[in-house]
Amino acid sequence: MTSHPRQVLVSACLLGRECRYDGRHNHDRALEDELRARGEQAVPFCPEEAGGLPTPRPAAWIEAVGAEAVLDGADRLITAQDEDVTEAFLLGASLAAEECRTHQITRAYLKERSPSCGVCCTHVGGQAVEGPGVTAARLARQGVEVIGIEGRRSSKT
Ligand code: SF4
Repeated sequence: MTSHPRQVLVSACLLGRECRYDGRHNHDRALEDELRARGEQAVPFCPEEAGGLPTPRPAAWIEAVGAEAVLDGADRLITAQDEDVTEAFLLGASLAAEECRTHQITRAYLKERSPSCGVCCTHVGGQAVEGPGVTAARLARQGVEVIGIEGRRSSKT
Protein backbone atom coordinates (compact mmCIF):
# COMPACT_ATOMS: atom_id res chain seq x y z
CA MET A 1 0.00 0.00 0.00
CA THR A 2 1.42 3.42 -0.93
CA SER A 3 1.16 6.21 1.61
CA HIS A 4 0.17 9.67 0.42
CA PRO A 5 2.91 12.30 0.71
CA ARG A 6 2.27 14.99 3.30
CA GLN A 7 1.48 18.30 1.63
CA VAL A 8 3.29 21.41 2.81
CA LEU A 9 2.94 25.04 1.72
CA VAL A 10 6.11 26.50 0.18
CA SER A 11 6.88 30.07 -0.92
CA ALA A 12 6.70 29.74 -4.71
CA CYS A 13 9.93 31.72 -5.27
CA LEU A 14 11.84 29.02 -3.29
CA LEU A 15 10.69 26.50 -5.90
CA GLY A 16 12.01 28.61 -8.77
CA ARG A 17 8.94 30.64 -9.72
CA GLU A 18 9.96 34.13 -10.82
CA CYS A 19 7.44 35.85 -8.56
CA ARG A 20 9.70 38.13 -6.50
CA TYR A 21 9.05 41.85 -6.56
CA ASP A 22 11.97 42.21 -8.99
CA GLY A 23 10.83 39.35 -11.26
CA ARG A 24 13.50 36.96 -9.99
CA HIS A 25 13.31 33.76 -7.92
CA ASN A 26 15.01 32.30 -4.81
CA HIS A 27 15.20 28.72 -6.07
CA ASP A 28 16.42 26.52 -3.19
CA ARG A 29 17.41 23.12 -4.49
CA ALA A 30 18.52 21.93 -1.05
CA LEU A 31 14.98 22.53 0.23
CA GLU A 32 13.60 20.42 -2.62
CA ASP A 33 16.00 17.62 -1.60
CA GLU A 34 14.89 17.93 2.05
CA LEU A 35 11.20 17.80 1.14
CA ARG A 36 11.76 14.73 -1.01
CA ALA A 37 13.72 13.00 1.78
CA ARG A 38 10.91 13.73 4.26
CA GLY A 39 8.21 12.56 1.86
CA GLU A 40 6.67 16.04 1.78
CA GLN A 41 4.93 17.35 -1.32
CA ALA A 42 5.23 21.09 -1.97
CA VAL A 43 2.16 23.19 -2.64
CA PRO A 44 3.69 26.37 -4.13
CA PHE A 45 2.10 29.65 -3.11
CA CYS A 46 3.02 33.32 -3.56
CA PRO A 47 0.82 35.45 -1.31
CA GLU A 48 1.71 38.73 -3.00
CA GLU A 49 0.71 37.50 -6.45
CA ALA A 50 -2.35 35.74 -4.96
CA GLY A 51 -3.31 39.05 -3.37
CA GLY A 52 -3.42 40.63 -6.83
CA LEU A 53 -0.04 42.40 -7.01
CA PRO A 54 1.79 42.32 -10.35
CA THR A 55 5.29 40.93 -10.97
CA PRO A 56 7.52 42.82 -11.07
CA ARG A 57 6.16 45.23 -8.45
CA PRO A 58 7.59 47.97 -6.25
CA ALA A 59 9.39 46.80 -3.10
CA ALA A 60 7.12 47.08 -0.05
CA TRP A 61 7.48 46.88 3.71
CA ILE A 62 5.48 47.03 6.91
CA GLU A 63 5.26 50.71 7.77
CA ALA A 64 5.95 51.04 11.48
CA VAL A 65 5.19 48.26 13.98
CA GLY A 66 4.96 44.72 12.62
CA ALA A 67 2.88 41.99 11.04
CA GLU A 68 0.72 41.32 14.11
CA ALA A 69 -0.30 44.99 14.12
CA VAL A 70 -1.11 44.75 10.38
CA LEU A 71 -3.36 41.73 11.05
CA ASP A 72 -5.06 43.70 13.82
CA GLY A 73 -5.63 46.71 11.55
CA ALA A 74 -3.12 48.88 13.39
CA ASP A 75 -0.35 49.09 10.79
CA ARG A 76 -0.07 48.96 7.02
CA LEU A 77 2.13 47.96 4.11
CA ILE A 78 3.57 50.68 1.93
CA THR A 79 5.81 50.81 -1.12
CA ALA A 80 8.86 53.01 -1.57
CA GLN A 81 6.49 55.38 -3.42
CA ASP A 82 4.23 55.46 -0.32
CA GLU A 83 1.45 53.52 -2.04
CA ASP A 84 -0.72 51.62 0.47
CA VAL A 85 -0.73 47.91 -0.50
CA THR A 86 -2.11 46.59 2.81
CA GLU A 87 -5.27 45.16 1.26
CA ALA A 88 -3.35 43.02 -1.25
CA PHE A 89 -0.99 41.70 1.46
CA LEU A 90 -3.90 40.83 3.78
CA LEU A 91 -5.78 39.13 0.94
CA GLY A 92 -2.68 37.09 0.07
CA ALA A 93 -2.28 36.06 3.73
CA SER A 94 -5.93 34.98 3.97
CA LEU A 95 -5.70 33.01 0.73
CA ALA A 96 -2.57 31.25 2.03
CA ALA A 97 -4.51 30.35 5.18
CA GLU A 98 -7.40 29.08 3.05
CA GLU A 99 -4.99 27.00 0.92
CA CYS A 100 -3.71 25.36 4.13
CA ARG A 101 -7.23 24.64 5.36
CA THR A 102 -8.25 23.21 1.96
CA HIS A 103 -5.27 20.85 1.76
CA GLN A 104 -5.12 20.18 5.53
CA ILE A 105 -1.61 21.63 5.56
CA THR A 106 -0.01 22.09 8.96
CA ARG A 107 3.52 23.13 7.94
CA ALA A 108 4.85 25.91 5.69
CA TYR A 109 8.37 26.64 4.43
CA LEU A 110 8.57 30.37 3.82
CA LYS A 111 11.18 32.73 2.42
CA GLU A 112 12.94 34.70 5.14
CA ARG A 113 13.05 38.52 5.12
CA SER A 114 9.97 38.99 2.94
CA PRO A 115 7.26 41.34 4.30
CA SER A 116 4.83 38.49 3.49
CA CYS A 117 6.75 35.25 3.98
CA GLY A 118 9.52 36.12 6.46
CA VAL A 119 9.38 33.96 9.60
CA CYS A 120 12.17 35.26 11.88
CA CYS A 121 13.07 38.37 9.90
CA THR A 122 11.03 40.81 7.85
CA HIS A 123 11.12 44.44 6.71
CA VAL A 124 9.63 47.21 8.82
CA GLY A 125 10.16 50.86 7.95
CA GLY A 126 12.48 49.83 5.12
CA GLN A 127 14.86 47.99 7.49
CA ALA A 128 15.36 44.25 8.06
CA VAL A 129 14.18 43.51 11.62
CA GLU A 130 13.31 40.47 13.75
CA GLY A 131 9.72 39.29 13.39
CA PRO A 132 7.41 37.64 10.90
CA GLY A 133 5.88 38.87 7.68
CA VAL A 134 2.12 39.14 7.30
CA THR A 135 1.47 35.70 5.78
CA ALA A 136 3.76 33.92 8.25
CA ALA A 137 1.99 35.64 11.16
CA ARG A 138 -1.43 34.79 9.70
CA LEU A 139 -0.54 31.11 9.24
CA ALA A 140 0.96 30.88 12.73
CA ARG A 141 -2.30 32.27 14.18
CA GLN A 142 -4.05 29.36 12.46
CA GLY A 143 -1.66 26.85 14.07
CA VAL A 144 0.44 26.18 10.97
CA GLU A 145 4.10 25.48 11.79
CA VAL A 146 6.10 28.09 9.87
CA ILE A 147 9.75 27.41 8.99
CA GLY A 148 11.96 30.17 7.58
CA ILE A 149 14.20 29.38 4.60
CA GLU A 150 16.87 31.78 3.34
CA GLY A 151 16.72 30.40 -0.20
CA ARG A 152 19.14 29.95 -3.12
CA ARG A 153 20.99 26.91 -1.71
CA SER A 154 22.28 24.39 -4.20
CA SER A 155 21.37 20.72 -4.18
CA LYS A 156 23.09 18.58 -1.54
CA THR A 157 22.90 15.48 -3.74
S1 SF4 B 1 8.79 35.67 -0.62
FE1 SF4 B 1 6.62 35.10 -0.64
S2 SF4 B 1 5.58 36.89 -1.43
FE2 SF4 B 1 7.75 37.14 -1.93
S3 SF4 B 1 7.96 36.29 -3.98
FE3 SF4 B 1 8.39 34.65 -2.56
S4 SF4 B 1 6.44 33.61 -2.31
FE4 SF4 B 1 6.00 35.59 -3.19
